[in-house]
Amino acid sequence: MGRVRLLIAMPQVSLRFYQELNDFLPSPMRGRSFEKTFTPGQSVKHLIENLGVPHTEVEIILVNGQSVDLNRQLQQDDRISVYPMFESLDVTPLLRLRPGPLRTPRFIADAHLGKLARHLRLLGFDTLFFNQAGDRDLAALSAGERRILLTRDRALLMHRVITHGCFIHAIEPQLQLRELIQRLDLERQCKPFTRCMTCNGRLQAVGKNRIEAKLPNRVRQTYNEFWRCSDCGRIYWKGGHYRQLRDFISTVAGTGLTQSEG
Ligand SMILES: [Zn+2]
Repeated sequence: MGRVRLLIAMPQVSLRFYQELNDFLPSPMRGRSFEKTFTPGQSVKHLIENLGVPHTEVEIILVNGQSVDLNRQLQQDDRISVYPMFESLDVTPLLRLRPGPLRTPRFIADAHLGKLARHLRLLGFDTLFFNQAGDRDLAALSAGERRILLTRDRALLMHRVITHGCFIHAIEPQLQLRELIQRLDLERQCKPFTRCMTCNGRLQAVGKNRIEAKLPNRVRQTYNEFWRCSDCGRIYWKGGHYRQLRDFISTVAGTGLTQSEG
């Protein structure tokens, strides 16, 4: 209607994502450089997450060849390279986005990863899991207790408070476990059969005489070694199920089993 429209060119940057970070992108953006407009004042974190990549999956960001943190404000014509964890690249002189891995990894799994949580407990990893927990509670527990948040929900990993999170790509629980063991290099940290699969409590050896009265007859007659959960009191023994679990562990965790478990 006769009004003069002022066209202002939006500033833009070019981006390239490496390795498995491409899985989060729409296919035309995978494995190559592409241009993206931004609003002045926008941070690298904001732009990356707008494209669907949670910041927890990113280990190193180079802007014009310099490593930067997530809060770096975008500038016209920036060339941005985004690397995942374990991209083969000599990273020592670069700014990593977070201090090294948490020393003894502890986890919190979201409500969709109950089976993965039980598997992790079976391998001895301290893993919280609640059937019902809101995103905010999960984020707060992850940050407050320094637990690695496990989820298939990208939006959850985009919470600013979360520093250590892990997007699980696999759908099937056994493959999820394998994926996590490989990504975090957990094989040598497995301590199978030391934690209650039901409640995450620690298992302690307990004398048969102290629990005999609670055992079914068949179990009392057949077994002599028992462990009790220090939290929920559940009693464990090396029953028929034990052999299956042991096979499962050696399949997923390889060297995680020691001779003494046999
Ligand atoms: Zn228990």
